[in-house]
Amino acid sequence: MSLPGADAEFPFELATCRWVEREWPPSGERDSAVLVARQLGTQSRRWDTVVLECDLAGLTARAAFGPDALSSNQLHVVRHAPADWEYYRDALPDPGYPWRYVRESVHALSARGALEHRKRSGRIEIRRIGPYPEEWVRRIVAVENKPDLDKTAARALADQLETDVALALADEAWVAVRANEDVNERLLLEGLPVEAGILAVSDAVGTDADRTSAEVLWHPRTLAVDDPGTRILENPNPADSASGYDASAARFEYADVDWKRRKRLAIAERAYERGWRSYVDAMRPDCRHFALEAAGDGLVPWCEAKGRCQTSAECRGACNEFEPEPPAWRTRGWPIDGGPGKGVRRVLDRRKERRRPAPDDD
Ligand code: SF4
Repeated sequence: MSLPGADAEFPFELATCRWVEREWPPSGERDSAVLVARQLGTQSRRWDTVVLECDLAGLTARAAFGPDALSSNQLHVVRHAPADWEYYRDALPDPGYPWRYVRESVHALSARGALEHRKRSGRIEIRRIGPYPEEWVRRIVAVENKPDLDKTAARALADQLETDVALALADEAWVAVRANEDVNERLLLEGLPVEAGILAVSDAVGTDADRTSAEVLWHPRTLAVDDPGTRILENPNPADSASGYDASAARFEYADVDWKRRKRLAIAERAYERGWRSYVDAMRPDCRHFALEAAGDGLVPWCEAKGRCQTSAECRGACNEFEPEPPAWRTRGWPIDGGPGKGVRRVLDRRKERRRPAPDDD
């Protein structure tokens, strides 16, 4: 099925996420629990699709700390919280920032049931609810989605992937392109770093495929996540020079291993909370024209007013054709606590929950 509007990157990205969730890894048997998220990374680099390969027991233990992400300050507390009651300043290592922020984290964690705290003689004592599973994430894989490549996009993509390879924050970097026979596009792929893998995706949104599938065109190399990385701050561009050769120096800085570990855990925590179906949070499912359209083996957002897949950027209150769903819809056969828009959220939330085992699951 090829839907109108499916040539945009957004529906392709959703189809890729759906396929990754079902089929990852692209070659070999699945031996990890897999969680998928969208649009996550660092301040300077946002990945389209993030794949977490998780230890199932660790993932189950992580669930005890609640469905929301633990911030880096909160992680500092839960990772060092004692098994028995202890004054929080004695129990925790110096955080390197004011203790009042630690107290904030203690209260926030306690409110969500991820830590116990009490007051004794005016002092705050803490006790953990259980050990935080340090190794719940085995590997992090970053995928860049580019359904259609032209020369400019290929150049930008090569720069992004070189940055990913140099920093080695993810264990693997991939690019997902739409499967087609375009020889020129394949030639453009040759300019990408050899460490990056290439997936050709036949998506059920933008091609005639009944079910999204993918083929590996190039296998990636595992990146050195346990070594210091290099942040490329500026890369000379030959196109900027009349001679076609820019002799100015590249600027870069080192990223130490501790920073990388902390960042990886922070990314994993955010991916755990968000999943990839949270795209609906940035859209307007409460608009009367919003629908979910079945496309092969998945669902994509569909705008009845525009008669096509809408992007998340255009589906907002400022959209010219936005119309709130009529209040009567919320009582006419729909669940009592909401109209169709709430129903869409519930469907997507339920699908996300199925991917995260609860502590009492076997
Ligand atoms: S009319 Fe606008 S806001 Fe409503 S579903 Fe379509 S794109 Fe979204």
